[in-house]
Amino acid sequence: MSNQTSVDVLVIGGGNAALCAALMAKEAGCSVRLLESSPKNWRGGNSMHTRNLRCMHDEPQDVLVESYPEEEFWQDLLKVTGGQTNEEMARIAIRDSSTCRPWMEKHGVRFQPSLSGALHTARTNAFFMGGGKALINAYFRSAQNLGIQVDYNATALDIDVKDGVFKSATVSHLQSDGSKTLETIFAKSCVLACGGFESNIDKLRQAWGQNQWGEWPADNFLIRGSRFNQGTMIDRLKDQGADIIGDPTQAHMVAIDARAPLYDGGICTRIDCVSLGVVVNKFAQRFYDEGEDFWPKRYAIWGRLVALQPGQIAYSITDSKAVGRFMPPVFEGTKANTLEELADLIGLDQSTFMQTMNEYNQACRVGTFNHTVLDDCHTEGLSPVKSHWAIPITQAPFYAYPVKPGITFTYLGLKTDQTAAVYFSNQPSPNLFAAGEIMAGNVLGKGYTAGVGMTIGTAYGRIAGHQAAQFVLNAAPSNTNDSGLESELNMNRSIENTVSEES
Ligand SMILES: Cc1cc2nc3c(=O)[nH]c(=O)nc-3n(C[C@H](O)[C@H](O)[C@H](O)COP(=O)(O)OP(=O)(O)OC[C@H]3O[C@@H](n4cnc5c(N)ncnc54)[C@H](O)[C@@H]3O)c2cc1C
Repeated sequence: MSNQTSVDVLVIGGGNAALCAALMAKEAGCSVRLLESSPKNWRGGNSMHTRNLRCMHDEPQDVLVESYPEEEFWQDLLKVTGGQTNEEMARIAIRDSSTCRPWMEKHGVRFQPSLSGALHTARTNAFFMGGGKALINAYFRSAQNLGIQVDYNATALDIDVKDGVFKSATVSHLQSDGSKTLETIFAKSCVLACGGFESNIDKLRQAWGQNQWGEWPADNFLIRGSRFNQGTMIDRLKDQGADIIGDPTQAHMVAIDARAPLYDGGICTRIDCVSLGVVVNKFAQRFYDEGEDFWPKRYAIWGRLVALQPGQIAYSITDSKAVGRFMPPVFEGTKANTLEELADLIGLDQSTFMQTMNEYNQACRVGTFNHTVLDDCHTEGLSPVKSHWAIPITQAPFYAYPVKPGITFTYLGLKTDQTAAVYFSNQPSPNLFAAGEIMAGNVLGKGYTAGVGMTIGTAYGRIAGHQAAQFVLNAAPSNTNDSGLESELNMNRSIENTVSEES
């Protein structure tokens, strides 16, 4: 038996995008209820693990130095996605990133300059003081102060949509004794901001299938963030005829320490020394150019590269010259006084490992080593080449870090437009909106550029909340389910202007 309740705007999710939507809808004068699947102490989804937001700006702005104009941001996005992006939607998110920070600060978020040693991001990314956890806490505090009803341990299981119009959601409430109660929540409009499907190993398994060695690669994936993004709403929406975009195997995936926990290892499990040494697979062979580009730019490809190797494991090998040149990982590396000993300690075939290392060391053409530019230290006659920062690995002690694919978030999601409306048979819903990871694939067909996840979530969270509220405020109460919805929708289409006004 399920309870029945109603509210103006229902927000499903408890991360950045959901909170932005809920706060906007509440500020506009609506009653708002937010459902967070996790218990209170795990609230905030992947957003609690974040550090920064990529921001466009034409001149220095508080913590951001120099300028990062719209066109440069757009070109960066175009490059990493290889054109698999919706330009109109992308530009809206880019522009919003230049004006959203005062609104964020109003809700308690604070910014700080980029970390020393990460100068390249001081221009492009605004860092959250206290990280994503502080951002999330600030937004929840503001939500509470404004009177938004927040339910923890509340998982949306199903959603009722008729002819593209949202009616209600079925929610499971986990009680403290482990029992569950069901509730049907009716709302005039709804925002879906409940992440991708990255936490769902079964779904990742289905997406990745079996490889040429008969392995299920997803069995060796680690999830860098929340365990609560199970993709339930993506499935239910698909069942209800929503238009789906994206490739299920596309995701932001980095190489992380193989000893990280299955969920929520967060940022400290990253292995940042790939470009300072070589990476070998479980057969002790190199498989990709470790010096192709700067580590922050290229690190997002290494998760996928390792996923394509047998056993989905690899080892980042460095020597003592690398120490101090990269952010030390949380787990110590395996340390040895000789390369032979290192091979034994990490369980690789010693003779193949030594052959790989000797060939690499002999192929290095050392010029002027400079880790801050694409330097002239490269290999010759080696396949795969190491095109920059190639210096022989000869100075004891030697180190090895085991790496596995770490999934940040998946890109398959709901097709939306610049108003954040969810699409059914190529038509926008008048009262169902989506924000954040669940629709990020509209902007990120593939690839990634640091900080853009929060840019998309903040922009489209705010847009979705605004649109959901406008629908409620413009609709006569008795009209919620009638066919006058199209005119409401049209009234709400000039989103670009409205978002700037809010800022
Ligand atoms: C380790 C790590 C570091 C990152 N660093 C950055 C960074 O510095 N900058 C950046 O831009 N991006 C970063 N990202 C990516 C960023 O986290 C995401 O792009 C962004 O947080 C997505 O926000 P969201 O609100 O869509 O999803 P989330 O923050 O994941 O929120 C989804 C919410 O939905 C809830 N939920 C899921 N299913 C249901 C359901 N059925 N019912 C109710 N609730 C549900 C979850 O519990 C969660 O609260 C990082 C990600 C990770 C994992």
